[in-house]
Amino acid sequence: MNQLTRRGLLSASAAAALAAALPKQSFAAAPTAGKQAPGFYRYKVGDIEVTVITDGANRLPVTDAFVINVKKEEVNAALVAAHMEAGVFVGPYNPIVLNIGGKLTLVDTGTSERAYVASKGATGQLLTNMAAAGIDPKAIDTVLISHFHGDHINGLLRADNSLAFPNAEILVPANEHQYYMDDGNMSRAPKGRIEDVFKNAHRVMKNAEVMKRLRTYTWDKEALPGVLAVGTAGHTPGHTSHIVSSGNSKIYVQADVTHAPYLFVRNPGWHAYYDQDPVMAEATRRRVYDMLSAEKMLVQGFHYPFPSVAHVEKTATGYREIPLPWNPTI
Ligand SMILES: [Zn+2]
Repeated sequence: MNQLTRRGLLSASAAAALAAALPKQSFAAAPTAGKQAPGFYRYKVGDIEVTVITDGANRLPVTDAFVINVKKEEVNAALVAAHMEAGVFVGPYNPIVLNIGGKLTLVDTGTSERAYVASKGATGQLLTNMAAAGIDPKAIDTVLISHFHGDHINGLLRADNSLAFPNAEILVPANEHQYYMDDGNMSRAPKGRIEDVFKNAHRVMKNAEVMKRLRTYTWDKEALPGVLAVGTAGHTPGHTSHIVSSGNSKIYVQADVTHAPYLFVRNPGWHAYYDQDPVMAEATRRRVYDMLSAEKMLVQGFHYPFPSVAHVEKTATGYREIPLPWNPTI
């Protein structure tokens, strides 16, 4: 007993001596990383592998002009109800890469390398996160575009205006292309935002290298094997969503049928300023979300929070999104 106690004491003092001998720096505070981890996430739709790659998120002040049929106080109350900061709308961007039978298709491009520089890395993260995901931009076979807003097409071009995906064919919705490339439509566009959308669409889509690789696709047909193009006009005249299916699995890649769900899924009657035809956009939104909730179909939302995959349910006042939990295996 005595011996045991003595041995215990000895070993305790030995441990204290050892601790004192340890180099001091091992007790120094760890420096903070100060930087977010790369954002990409994978899941399967049947045999198709989906990689969601975040392009970052934009912060926009909430004004009365943000939702045209609702006062900013009501928008801010909804943000607070969603445990978000009043007065600031956070809009995430989440392009996806589909691996269909070994061919890689990028759906929408994010805001571009130019935006990455201008926003100091807050947006335009697609290329850096794609590199982190181990996907070489040169290996992209197809870029599939949903509509011609800058956050969906600007990433086709790098900061020096060269092609970001130099070996890819660029597929665009036929009616979106026809509408925005029409000089008459452009000349009649209201000054300000709509005119700017036209000018930007011309800048990107009339780039000589883009034009060489451009091909149009039409609604109600497969744009690619397993990728059905569906018309969801309103946000823009040719706005297109895609139903990706393989075997018994499918997912609805909605593009901008809604913007961020914490405002526009929960309040489908709200008219965000970027819906070009807000009445048609609302009708489209309700039709799609009634279908998604009835069929319990997963939705991949470009402006949902990363990784932007969710189920939706009908509520008394609109819909509610239930994000898919992170799955550590695929
Ligand atoms: Zn968008």
